[in-house]
Amino acid sequence: MNRKAVKGGRGTPVSGNDKPASKPAHRFTSDDLQISSFKNMMTQFDEAARRLHIDPRFLDLIKLPRRSVIVQLPVQMDNGTFKMFTGYRVQHSIMRGPAKGGIRYHPDVSLDEVQALAAWMTWKCAVVGIPFGGAKGGVACDPEKMSRGELERLTRRYTADLMDEIGPEKDVPAPDVNTNSQTMAWIMDTYSMHARHTVTSVVTGKPIELGGSRGRREATGRGVLFCVQEAAKHLKLNLRGAKIAVQGFGNVGSVAADLLAKEGSKIIAATDVHGGVYNPAGFDMPKLLDYVQKSPNKTVARFPGSRPITNEELLKLECDVLIPAALENQITEENAHEIRCKILAEGANGPTTPAADAILDKMGVFIIPDILCNAGGVTVSYFEWVQDRMGFFWEEDEVNARLDLIMRRSFAEVLKLSLEHKVNMRIAAFMLSIKRVWDAMVMRGIYA
Ligand code: NAD
Repeated sequence: MNRKAVKGGRGTPVSGNDKPASKPAHRFTSDDLQISSFKNMMTQFDEAARRLHIDPRFLDLIKLPRRSVIVQLPVQMDNGTFKMFTGYRVQHSIMRGPAKGGIRYHPDVSLDEVQALAAWMTWKCAVVGIPFGGAKGGVACDPEKMSRGELERLTRRYTADLMDEIGPEKDVPAPDVNTNSQTMAWIMDTYSMHARHTVTSVVTGKPIELGGSRGRREATGRGVLFCVQEAAKHLKLNLRGAKIAVQGFGNVGSVAADLLAKEGSKIIAATDVHGGVYNPAGFDMPKLLDYVQKSPNKTVARFPGSRPITNEELLKLECDVLIPAALENQITEENAHEIRCKILAEGANGPTTPAADAILDKMGVFIIPDILCNAGGVTVSYFEWVQDRMGFFWEEDEVNARLDLIMRRSFAEVLKLSLEHKVNMRIAAFMLSIKRVWDAMVMRGIYA
């Protein structure tokens, strides 16, 4: 992200926003730091690649995004006017299979951010050993200010403009921040109308009625749970009664929190874009989830029996497990010294900058890196793609059991590499995934 925003403001107005959004209660401070997510990704890559002794002349072949598409999307608004939105789709790699990655709707979406997220998808799919490359898409827009009809027309136009780029064998989108199963249903329908037949496997994260997989909605949060359990086992930390703080209470954060609470952990703090809540005794999770569901903005703010807390304060809380599950660049060299968790479980993509990584490493914080920690979503997306192509659908128990196997096996592989090479889990995860992508490239050869 390379945003120029005023601290406390809502960010630079971009195409799609005819006026700056009103000031929200909380705002991440990383916006002021001019952090490039793509540069951060490259720093992580270089650190790991150096240790693999790969011929540096060829590294760019697997490091740089293979294709980046920018589209200008006219959308008719409810008042009859037309507005232009900028959309992106980046295919970082197709070395190990079709490109795979979510679509984000957010005012701050930029090419830099989408390229970084696409690259992280490549490493993520490789680290859990599923046969996909990496991609990501996004549209700079503010979904909170758009009606359902406007969002539908935007999604359909975005899909139509990307007809030649996406497809079950080419590039398979999925939900990300501010997109959901309904968005995926619109993409599937639009793509199918152009293809003249129903193509369910063009996207994952669809409603179950339209070829979605059981367990997909909870998959990323469930994967976070499995990783946290494995990390706790390694550190001999008892998760029963452990204190958990969650930044970003959306699909990933709320499910991870719910599942950890069911394991006996105490969720002591949660925040979202509208505010945050803190209760040192731990929330009553069913009540909090019900409250969020019923609140008009789907927010945790003002949950009865809790104290307000900001995003910044949440990150600095003393806790056993901190789960950043919102956006990139939240833990930076500015606040890393103040982090007081034992395990940092990266539900979000890219929440920790390389400079913060180094600080946390010295402090002895055990980081479960994003490309491993949140890989449960793409793993079950892979299951969904397989089920769509077979036309045969699995029971939820089967989905969860297969996810369990892949996540715990991947965690063990990364941990083993980390102990063998005396590197942290992030470098180990990158080493494992770069090696897998590199090996695929060597076997395929270079068509130059
Ligand atoms: P979501 O839209 O369901 O939830 C995002 C949450 O973050 C919301 O609670 C929102 O209010 C909060 N948030 C957004 N902007 C914020 C801000 N400026 N300040 C504070 N809170 C803010 O999105 P999600 O699907 O849960 O994704 C969250 C993160 O997890 C993203 O980094 C995404 O890339 C990553 N991720 C998602 C999946 C998935 O399957 N959905 C898979 C892997 C990784």
